[in-house]
Amino acid sequence: MRIVLLGAPGSGKGTQAQRLMSDYGIPQISTGDLLRQAVAEGSDLGMRAKRFMDKGELVADEVVIGMIRERIARPDAEPGFIFDGFPRTLVQAEALDELLQELDKPLQLAVLMDLDSSILLKRLSGRRTCRNCDKVANVHHPAFDATEHCPETGAAHDYFQRSDDNEDTIAKRLDIYAAQTEPLVACYRGQGKLVSVDAQGSIEEVYDRLVSALETLEREGVGDAVQVEVEEPDKA
Ligand code: AMP
Repeated sequence: MRIVLLGAPGSGKGTQAQRLMSDYGIPQISTGDLLRQAVAEGSDLGMRAKRFMDKGELVADEVVIGMIRERIARPDAEPGFIFDGFPRTLVQAEALDELLQELDKPLQLAVLMDLDSSILLKRLSGRRTCRNCDKVANVHHPAFDATEHCPETGAAHDYFQRSDDNEDTIAKRLDIYAAQTEPLVACYRGQGKLVSVDAQGSIEEVYDRLVSALETLEREGVGDAVQVEVEEPDKA
């Protein structure tokens, strides 16, 4: 399965991609995670990227495309991949198409995680990540439990807030999404590869909708037939 998860920051791409990865046995490839890893390692690329990431701006297309080229050449990506946060510009989408054509493994589906911007803001400002196990939680969620134990340490999760999840940077990231990434929706719709999934609701509800969309892909293959709207009839 070769898919792209499209959607604004905070639409739940990372969370859903991680679940798909464990259920379908294919890697989640997140350019945000790859860049944060480069920053943590203190590499030249990481240091250059950090300046843009901290301001909520996009890192240069060539840098991100180079990272993806290397990442999909690894053996674990042989059976497929879930792109999360990539492509984010039309240039990246074109480069991805070319790259996958060279490998004779065209993209099968682009799933748009569709969510209202007021919910995006709340999700991003409350988002926390555990330093030890990478669990992502939200302090605004009624089920948030600060005392829950981390499976890595056995002690309470050591949550931190991403440096780009502050209010000013969030607003900038949402603007950049609207200007640079949203045009990809029309682009993938034009290719007959777009599925829109209502991303409102619990992680389980959204995951169920996502899996229905992917089952359509498995049944009907690539092409116009996968251009379906997967939405609950009575959403909360
Ligand atoms: P994310 O974790 O996907 O929200 O990405 C965090 C930050 O990493 C973004 O705000 C960008 O600065 C950078 N980034 C991640 N993916 C890309 C991409 N495909 N193109 C350019 N910059 C990216």
